[in-house]
Amino acid sequence: MLVMKQTKEHLPTLPARINTAVVGAGYAGLSAALALHDDGIDIVVLEGSTRVGGRVCSERRRDGVVVDHGGQWVGPTQKHLLALADRFGCPTFPTYNTGEHIELWPDGTRRPYTGAGPDGGPGMTEYLAAADRIDELARTIDLDDPTATPHLELWDSETVHSYFDRTVANEDARRRLALAVEGVWSIEPRDLSLFHLLFYVASAGGFDQLMETEGCAQERRFRDGAQSTALAVAGHLGDRVHLDTAVRHIEQTPDGVRIETTRGTVLADSVVMALPPSATRGVTFDPPLPVSRTRWVERSPMGDVAKVHAVFDTPFWRADGLSGQATIYGDRHVGVVFDNSPEDAGTGVLVCFVYGDRQRSWSALSDSDRQAAIIDTLVELFGDRAASPIDYTEKIWPQAPWVRGGYAASPTPGTWFAHGRNGWRAPTDRIHWAGSETASVWNGYIDGAISSGMRAAEDIRKQLSH
Ligand SMILES: Cc1cc2nc3c(=O)[nH]c(=O)nc-3n(C[C@H](O)[C@H](O)[C@H](O)COP(=O)(O)OP(=O)(O)OC[C@H]3O[C@@H](n4cnc5c(N)ncnc54)[C@H](O)[C@@H]3O)c2cc1C
Repeated sequence: MLVMKQTKEHLPTLPARINTAVVGAGYAGLSAALALHDDGIDIVVLEGSTRVGGRVCSERRRDGVVVDHGGQWVGPTQKHLLALADRFGCPTFPTYNTGEHIELWPDGTRRPYTGAGPDGGPGMTEYLAAADRIDELARTIDLDDPTATPHLELWDSETVHSYFDRTVANEDARRRLALAVEGVWSIEPRDLSLFHLLFYVASAGGFDQLMETEGCAQERRFRDGAQSTALAVAGHLGDRVHLDTAVRHIEQTPDGVRIETTRGTVLADSVVMALPPSATRGVTFDPPLPVSRTRWVERSPMGDVAKVHAVFDTPFWRADGLSGQATIYGDRHVGVVFDNSPEDAGTGVLVCFVYGDRQRSWSALSDSDRQAAIIDTLVELFGDRAASPIDYTEKIWPQAPWVRGGYAASPTPGTWFAHGRNGWRAPTDRIHWAGSETASVWNGYIDGAISSGMRAAEDIRKQLSH
């Protein structure tokens, strides 16, 4: 992993008293800390793991190849991430998007296509009509106060599975829609609230924004890995960032907020909790959190995703006119493949996404069977040269101890309706809630994490000025 130069033996001393303590050094926590620090406010960042970046985790492998195990892409409307990367001099480059993409169907049929999406093919017309309907409904979502959306109760009572079952007659179109949902939310349509799907689509600016590459969320990658900006921000904050310092208990007292960590106690005027809901469950609170916040946290499970990288001497598929992008329907474990080669194409890298039900069955296999399952699919897609990678690495996010899943949390059906108003991100006295799950725009993405941290910092600034 890319790590800061902080070792267990040389961790900075925790301050006894501080204006604001930020819990979590993912992009949300680092952005909150940076915004407050820029304003001259005293901050400390308390991070449980031994690195910064959270769900963004880059690793330099053999021959200097950087792989992104977690978040990796940035799109043109993700202004907060682009601005932060620009401020800290972290360059991006376009995702390789040239040549034929492949669709692999359950019966083994390969359907190559170029451009944003297949022009025709099984169920494509009905799929596009369903995507248009989703966009139309999503336009009615109130992003600042989602619970003020007119059909909240109705839409939050229905799963995406039953909605597609009811409104999309064509089986192939339903298959395409299910894979789209698995790819974007890393959960199955039966587990996803229709309201949350619509909120997420609205938050990204449209269904295509989530799905596509050029002009959309998958447009660019970071030359030194997506974690490079997080490392640069942490370097700028210096000894204010404390790694290996897990927060266990938070007590609101008349003097301030007492934060108990594995390395001592800090007293702060305010706290920013920049954790996914799954990690918030690992902290106890006195007084207890309001019921709506507790229920929101309990009813917002993380998705099930694993990312697998296979490295080759060259991106050999490019010479065959292939983009390296593939969409796989049916019961193979891999859902989607992308070309993740470095900008100079000095080596070839394919990244495979394994999510939802496929992730659960794949992660239960032995190490060698997991690898064999991935390589078999790559050979089916790109030929025999895919059989012999020079490097192979996988990251199974539900097993990542500090976040326990990814890409993000999806509130289960009924949660927005019952607990959204007070549970989503309303501050709890001096505790301010950040994290990509609390963002109005690009919720669930790095960009949303950054804007959520900036919002929490702004709330604290306002409190201070009062
Ligand atoms: C496989 C995968 C692919 C993704 N792809 C993309 C992508 O291409 N583009 C994109 O924009 N987004 C992507 N995402 C989503 C994106 O990475 C996240 O939305 C974003 O990074 C979340 O940032 P955060 O700061 O809100 O939370 P996190 O990154 O989860 O940070 C939370 C931090 O809190 C720490 N922590 C937890 N418990 C404690 C505790 N008790 N005390 C102290 N610290 C604690 C954790 O260690 C962690 O560092 C992806 C995510 C995954 C997993």
